[in-house]
Amino acid sequence: FNTPNVDPTQQENIEIIIKSNLSVEDKVEKILQQLTLEEKVGQMTQITLDVITKGENVFVSDEPLTVDKKLLEEAIKKYKIGSVLNTANNRARSTEKWNEVITQIQKVAMKEIGVPVLYGVDAIHGTTYTAGATFFPQQIGMAATWNPELNRQGCEVTAYETRASSIPWDFSPVLDMGRNPAWPRIWETYGEDVYLTSQMGIAAVKGYEGENNDLSDNTKVASCIKHFLGYGSERSGKDRTPSYLPEIELREHYLPSYKAAIDAGAHTIMINSGIINGTPVHASYKLLTDLLKKELGFEGLVVTDWADIENLHNRDKVAATHKEAVKQSINAGIDMSMVPYNFNFCGYLIELVNEGEVPMERIDDAVRRILTVKVKLGLFETPAPKVKDYPKFGSKEHEQIAYNAASESITLLKNDKDILPLKKGTKILVAGPNANSMRTLNGGWTYSWQGEKVEEFAQDYNTIFEAVQNTFGKENVNLVQGVEYNHEGQYYEEKNIDIQAAVKAASSADVVLLCLGENTYTETPGNLHDLYISQNQRKLAEALAATGKPVVLILNEGRPRLISQFESDMQAVVHTYLPGNFGGDALADILVGDVNPSGKLPYSYPMYPNALGTYDHKPSEASEKMEGMYDYNSSLPFQYAFGFGLSYTTFEYANLKVSNTDFGPDDNIKISVDVKNTGKVEGKEVVQLFTKDVYASITPDNKRLRRFEKVNLKPGETKTVSFTLSARDLAFVDADLKWTVEEGEFKLMIGDKTTSVNVTKTKKFDQASN
Ligand code: BGC
Repeated sequence: FNTPNVDPTQQENIEIIIKSNLSVEDKVEKILQQLTLEEKVGQMTQITLDVITKGENVFVSDEPLTVDKKLLEEAIKKYKIGSVLNTANNRARSTEKWNEVITQIQKVAMKEIGVPVLYGVDAIHGTTYTAGATFFPQQIGMAATWNPELNRQGCEVTAYETRASSIPWDFSPVLDMGRNPAWPRIWETYGEDVYLTSQMGIAAVKGYEGENNDLSDNTKVASCIKHFLGYGSERSGKDRTPSYLPEIELREHYLPSYKAAIDAGAHTIMINSGIINGTPVHASYKLLTDLLKKELGFEGLVVTDWADIENLHNRDKVAATHKEAVKQSINAGIDMSMVPYNFNFCGYLIELVNEGEVPMERIDDAVRRILTVKVKLGLFETPAPKVKDYPKFGSKEHEQIAYNAASESITLLKNDKDILPLKKGTKILVAGPNANSMRTLNGGWTYSWQGEKVEEFAQDYNTIFEAVQNTFGKENVNLVQGVEYNHEGQYYEEKNIDIQAAVKAASSADVVLLCLGENTYTETPGNLHDLYISQNQRKLAEALAATGKPVVLILNEGRPRLISQFESDMQAVVHTYLPGNFGGDALADILVGDVNPSGKLPYSYPMYPNALGTYDHKPSEASEKMEGMYDYNSSLPFQYAFGFGLSYTTFEYANLKVSNTDFGPDDNIKISVDVKNTGKVEGKEVVQLFTKDVYASITPDNKRLRRFEKVNLKPGETKTVSFTLSARDLAFVDADLKWTVEEGEFKLMIGDKTTSVNVTKTKKFDQASN
């Protein structure tokens, strides 16, 4: 298409609008009026600086750390690009370098259009692509803390450090459900339970955007909740393969986390790359407009996932041409297209508008949403803030929060004969492929998509082996891995298999710390055929157990790999998930007993490949025969249950009380319980309230998590924990797809205590409560 002449007064007009006292809405409306159709379509386009090397609307720099001026000008002059993302290239770029690159981009955007670029990044467990940034546990570990406040603090730090890198938009948090253990993005989720995910999601949005979602505060970023909706429910467990998800299930187990985050004010949302019940979500008017924009009332910006408009044609085959794909997705409700690669997104969209195939109101609606985020972020006034305004970047204060998160996430799953904590002076053999790797402690999305370059950039931090050496003394700690990952190959390839060397080294140790799990991956490259832990690792475990030395199994993995073949030979099992740069230190402090473990599993750890499931789901097993019929009320055998985690102390529950046993559908009840630390050391307990609907018109779930609170107790100390529950909290999605609470008995369970309440009247609600 022809490049229109830029109106020379446009920049000035926009400046006047921004400086005026108008409301955000009025400013947005007036800026919108200044823009041509080409400029509006440009606003709806997001490109990446480093990946695009060919195609029409592309530009790329030869030197990864500088932007080619000519190409940049071309992209902005010709295509009026409104957004840019990532630019990693396996580099840990300094805040200064980020500032330089983004300032350069913003100068051209301001000169050519008068509208700044919205720069976005995957800062998903810290500011992923910035050197010296603070790295937290990945989301699955944050969920294992069962401490939303800690998650809020972590996201607050990430917002600060991302803004210190001149980036105002973060593609985080993931609010998809981790309900299929094979899915290679389980570790990016908050686990299998929608209530835990909702609470963590609210905390993340508030951490990123601030308590009042005031994005003009330049230590905050716009959050991007992703990937709406149903992502992770792939039948095969393989990433981006089709899902078949009944609406009743979608609404009950997948939607509430998004609703909670939208109600918490999240400004942007990214769409699920996948296909649900045959329809790619990117082409679904029903999900994007009817459900998201109308029913949930989402007023923010809707961005596609990577290249997902062209995927409607190339991969999903619902659009016969690229132009048709643009029409379907924009009309379905997409506001911004992430990296249109090899097709002329802008050109097609302009044609479609001119042909009346995409209404102008749809374009204006999309651009309004985009401009609103830009105006709120203050990008017009400060397109790239100064690095010196961020003195706390990478500070000790920030690192302390990351350490706290790592230490509260680590979950003790087994501790036979109280072998842990280990005494100082214990002779330790550290073995296994995860024993000495910063890469596996951090996981994917660390300096790069697949996390290949972590070792290079994270040298200042301690691996498990180094941290254990620091704690127990160099003279007491030996490293013989026995199995190593092949970093040159696929994530699952292993090399240097020398199990006998590890067995030999075990003879001079008192205890073996066996660090097993996975190498780093994310998305489709992390797909898997077999959930069992690798054969080499299993053989290593069996051989070390056969030495007769006690083996403490340390799991460091992105999803629960099956260990049932040798778990009974392990004296203790400690799950670290992907704990980040301080995971080694936090683990060593737990092993020596300086920190009492308090993490709890955010998913059901499976035992068998044919018994994958979630704790909450409808009864999934037939067990004993009852009067000629099978009883379906038993649940699946798990290696470890959802919510489970041991401590070095013991807790007792007593006095489970409810304020009233009968309550109407609009009433609340108060539930309280006493928790006592009956052991010898201080510890944190996660008090979890589950409920069970005894009879309902839809076979009720096994049980559901409704509330939780993490409390710290000194030895001998008792605390009373209270929860308020409304009848609405007990609602489920019924056969008419309505949230309903039905009269009758509900069981309430906290710890080993159970009581019952009665809901006196059935009622249907419009929406779930959070
Ligand atoms: C992922 C998203 C991510 C995007 C941008 C996609 O491949 O699915 O989660 O935000 O890339 O990097």
